[in-house]
Amino acid sequence: MIRRTKIVATLGPACSNPKILERMIRAGVDVGRINFSHGTREQHIEFAELTRSLARAAGLTVGVLADLQGPKIRVGRFEHGKIRLEVGGQFILDATCELGNQERVGLDYKELPNDLEAGATLMLDDGRIVLSVSHVKSHQVFCIVEQGGILSNNKGINRKGGGLGAPALTSKDLEDIKTAALLGADYLAVSFVRSGDDIRQARALMQEAGGKGMIMAKIERSEAILALDDIVEASDAIMVARGDLAVEVGDAAVPALQKRMIRSARANNRLVVTATQMMESMITNPIPTRAEVSDVANAVLDGTDAVMLSAESAAGEYPVESVEAMARVCLEAEKEYLVSHDKRMANTSPGTIEEAIARATMFTASGLQIRAIAALTQSGVTALLMSRRSSKVPIFALSPNEETRRRVTLFRGVYPVEFGEGLNDPEIILNLAEEELLQRGVVRNGDIMVMTIGEPVGKSGGTNTMKIIKVGEGNYAKAWMSRKPAGCNFYIGIKIATAKRIRNFIRTSVCIGSEAY
Ligand code: PGA
Ligand code: MN
Repeated sequence: MIRRTKIVATLGPACSNPKILERMIRAGVDVGRINFSHGTREQHIEFAELTRSLARAAGLTVGVLADLQGPKIRVGRFEHGKIRLEVGGQFILDATCELGNQERVGLDYKELPNDLEAGATLMLDDGRIVLSVSHVKSHQVFCIVEQGGILSNNKGINRKGGGLGAPALTSKDLEDIKTAALLGADYLAVSFVRSGDDIRQARALMQEAGGKGMIMAKIERSEAILALDDIVEASDAIMVARGDLAVEVGDAAVPALQKRMIRSARANNRLVVTATQMMESMITNPIPTRAEVSDVANAVLDGTDAVMLSAESAAGEYPVESVEAMARVCLEAEKEYLVSHDKRMANTSPGTIEEAIARATMFTASGLQIRAIAALTQSGVTALLMSRRSSKVPIFALSPNEETRRRVTLFRGVYPVEFGEGLNDPEIILNLAEEELLQRGVVRNGDIMVMTIGEPVGKSGGTNTMKIIKVGEGNYAKAWMSRKPAGCNFYIGIKIATAKRIRNFIRTSVCIGSEAY
């Protein structure tokens, strides 16, 4: 069994040692997340390069997700690093305060007082401290402590119910988008998105900077829930960003919202990542709690494309074990995942030729005993459309395009395969593709397999053909002959495949060809 649900691991000090990161990649990391809230530009670039080179050395493909900090509103610093707030006491958030004390603290977002009025509730440090606003006087917000505790430097501030006006893209984000483009991020995640326009703006900036990554909207503001349809429409992917979302909408609302978001993303041919505190206790423990195991499994059953590790992999004591635990839980949960006949398939007409081919393929795969789907794809779109239908059949995205192979790492049930560079005869391509999957041991002689391809070959977004084949009946000799090096009159290709994976089976294919024939 191959795991279908993908694992996103946040990169940080816990895996800056290449040996650790290599073990994480081998344990199953599909996408490395670079969190732009921490670290320098140089560190981000280094992480991206290290991830790719370690993956390449292991014969794997790992995508890179650049996650912008966004307008996370924070208190400033304190004279002594931290203070204790007592319930019932008064505390002032003061936009002009330089260094905080027991009475007041500064703000990084100077506009905050303009966004607040008496009666508003503020949640600090992920809701550990709660303040209610008693009144606002120019640059000062006077608060009463509802829930006290220790407040230390730079802790986050959220408003319960949302309504803080800070734009999604800060000036730091604008710079970071350039870095994301430079390091070739496969995904760009935009934090604290309010509307589809935030995403359209981020996409334009990414393109302007020469980046090709897909755009992911982090759903973590109350406003984003109201604008979900527009945001999903504008994005390629969404993230159920449960950390900040729980603070804004209340923790109890999050599980149902998670299900709604996953449903909406899949129904609209978008990708979805479920994030935050999934294996939280593994920051300091080698095994997850029962509740965490259930949480990861439930996200899989909800149909998420990927589950994400945050501090567990970035700053925890057990980064490798966290990946292993996630992989194990996903695999087991997938056995129970209901593969249902998608009613939308029957009730709506396909909007494009590709969609029609993708649906036909998945319809076939749900009926016949299909071992694998091979999607020969330039852009990865066909593989995406296929993966929006629940299925147990693996979808191999065969592409000569490295960017495409890197981005499909996030698609549930889709696996990248390097293939097709310089080939353009569809018949030969299909034969060689079949052979490639046979070599990899994912299909065996006699298996039925579906292949899709676009003719003419090489055009992006042109999938228009679906073929059902019985493995082993192809004309490999002809395909091998096509590999004859240019300018060489005689070509002898001898290939002995001691394919361990094809069980005690030795296949020899010899072909002799010449231009003169
Ligand atoms: P963060 O986003 O880790 O960047 O805060 C995820 C979340 O809020 O859940
Ligand atoms: Mn967040």
